[in-house]
Amino acid sequence: MTTTTTTAITHIANLVTNDPSLGDGTPLGLIRDAAVVIDGDRVVWTGESSKAPATDNAVDAGGRAVVPGFVDSHSHLVFAGDRTAEFNARMSGRPYSAGGIRTTVAATRAASDDELSANVARYLDEALRQGTTTFETKSGYGLTVEDEARALRIAARHTDEVTFLGAHIVSPDYADDPAGYVDLVTGPMLDACAPHARWIDVFCERGAFDEDQARTILTAGLARGLHPRVHANQLGHGPGVRLAVELDAASADHCTHLDDADLDALGQGSTVATLLPGAEFSTRAAWPDARRILGAGATVALSTDCNPGSSFTSSMPFCIALAVRDMGMTPDEAVWSATAGGAAALRRTDIGRITPGARADLVLLDAPSHVHLAYRPGVPLVRAVWRAGERTV
Ligand SMILES: [Zn+2]
Repeated sequence: MTTTTTTAITHIANLVTNDPSLGDGTPLGLIRDAAVVIDGDRVVWTGESSKAPATDNAVDAGGRAVVPGFVDSHSHLVFAGDRTAEFNARMSGRPYSAGGIRTTVAATRAASDDELSANVARYLDEALRQGTTTFETKSGYGLTVEDEARALRIAARHTDEVTFLGAHIVSPDYADDPAGYVDLVTGPMLDACAPHARWIDVFCERGAFDEDQARTILTAGLARGLHPRVHANQLGHGPGVRLAVELDAASADHCTHLDDADLDALGQGSTVATLLPGAEFSTRAAWPDARRILGAGATVALSTDCNPGSSFTSSMPFCIALAVRDMGMTPDEAVWSATAGGAAALRRTDIGRITPGARADLVLLDAPSHVHLAYRPGVPLVRAVWRAGERTV
């Protein structure tokens, strides 16, 4: 018989379980004066603190709140360089004619494997200190067979949630031959990348890939066992969201410009609408209307979109605050979307919740309630983090 060490976290003023059958019956499944028992890497018990079973160790939460570890289901962390000058010019109202994503592609191609891996580790550590215990990340700054496969191999050292985004933009090497680039992405690049990824993504937008190209790429990925996710309807209205639902993509990401047909599709399908408020913040763009998307019956996730061009934040608490302030979400909805919503966008049921059987990913806040994540924007409220049962912060 193997024995593991059990730990109880007791005297939690406000525990977010994300199980409506627990606690107060809301989607957050709130339990007041709660305890959580961890055995190894799993949660084995949640309930009222006074009823907690005996354990080997105990941690007194001292009347603070505990939420599930954040699930950041959309990031672009395999890159080199930064784009400070571009951001500064944009925010200063000055024209700036450098290459945008192409700048990052050039720096990423020139970087060594060790440099890229160290960069991923650095941003992951930053995110962990802000409560993120699961993250997805993508390729998309290589845009050659070798550089895309390399990005995915590096990403896979750090997470299981790896996405092949060879179709981020048409490679500058194929500027005059976009059809040739689609052939490359669906042919030799897919062959090299499929073994290292779980997901395939396309930037379906005017100036990137149109509906037919996106369908061709996502369908080719599906045939190789990669499940779709789509960058959709960010800069203007387009076919991305409807295509995502048609292909049963796990998520349609951005969802800033939606018409009624898009909302109907999201409400009826199982594709999650992933909102990325850091992108609108960092580009001074119009906000997606979360109220309208939730009203249509869609599942909403919140994510950082952490990338050096349009959203250089790794902070899920910051995204929660923006979603509440500027996208019309309630604090409860935003916390749910940053945890259970992110898990849904990754089609995972073992994370994003604090219930028996779930992975023990917990964040202890230096606050009495999860509402403080929006109420106290910009304040470092994360006091401790457990990832798979291990206290890491
Ligand atoms: Zn993105």
